[in-house]
Amino acid sequence: MEQLSTFAHSVYKATNLHLFDDIHENELDIIYKIIGDCAVVLARAGQAVITAQSNSVNLYIVLQGELTVIPDDSTVNTMSSIQFLQGECVGELSVLDEENHQHTVCAAVDTELLVIEATNLWRLIDESNGVARNLLRLLSFRIRTTNALLRRKQKVGEFYRQLSMIDGLTGLNNRAWLNCQLPHLIQSAHATKSPLSIIMADLDHFKNFNDMYGHLLGDDAIQTAAKVLNSALRPADFAVRYGGEELMVILPDTPLLSCHLVAERLCLKLRRSRVFSDKQIQLPHITASFGLATLNPSQDFHSLIAAADEALYRAKRAGRNRVSY
Ligand code: GH3
Ligand code: MG
Ligand code: MG
Repeated sequence: MEQLSTFAHSVYKATNLHLFDDIHENELDIIYKIIGDCAVVLARAGQAVITAQSNSVNLYIVLQGELTVIPDDSTVNTMSSIQFLQGECVGELSVLDEENHQHTVCAAVDTELLVIEATNLWRLIDESNGVARNLLRLLSFRIRTTNALLRRKQKVGEFYRQLSMIDGLTGLNNRAWLNCQLPHLIQSAHATKSPLSIIMADLDHFKNFNDMYGHLLGDDAIQTAAKVLNSALRPADFAVRYGGEELMVILPDTPLLSCHLVAERLCLKLRRSRVFSDKQIQLPHITASFGLATLNPSQDFHSLIAAADEALYRAKRAGRNRVSY
């Protein structure tokens, strides 16, 4: 950056800079003495004033113009642009803790800066209660801003985590959700000795459906099946898209008998449902086969699903469009 002058020879007044807000007039002389020799430099638009991971130990105060923080990969989605305007300072954290800078800060337009080196900043702190108080205020503000950014980042992270657990076609929970949540539900059922049942459903002769009507209408049919399942469940139950045209229902606190009633109801509802599509094509009713399993004390995630799978296979072999356990 090009040096223009020293602060004493510039047109600027310390009282317009936030670091020197509400300074007692007794302290002004010593402040001017310390910062009088400090350089005033020009950062051209786009030029980096601070580089992330560098450890330059200067505090910069914007005398005229504007600085902007360049978000890095970890903050690009959460950080709305942060600007430093006239009178504000930047770089104080690295001066105080001697750690590297976290972000790159560039001049948004041609910007004049007062450069206060670390030794001079410490002298200011020693000599002026007002400067020390203003720095404390600034640090509190920085902590709050950082906390707000972290909370936002956590929220965004949680949003994407939730999104990654949802199946795009049906809106049901997906396999990732199942792998994450079913083990917890099983653990809790074992711990409380409460019954936990699952229903595995597989659409019947779905290859034929796709062959006759195409995959897009096949997708409509899968969506219809998902709606039927989802709409027939209690708030504590879960519907999952297990794979292609295989759906699953998880029924906590439900013994086999009640699970059987639910499965029969789903089987009937699906058989009677109509597949809607935006094309004017008469689509056939779809059916599914249902396999049930209720957790027994020796079962884990894999053996419970295997039991439902075997029951489903029996339903298929017995002629499809039915429930088996
Ligand atoms: P079965 O009664 O024995 O289940 O016969 P099936 O024809 O349904 O056999 P299977 O379950 O093995 O075949 C599943 C078919 O589902 C094959 C695949 O093309 C189709 N499929 C899987 N995922 C999707 C999807 O997302 N969209 C569409 N349209 N079809 C899918
Ligand atoms: Mg299948
Ligand atoms: Mg099938």
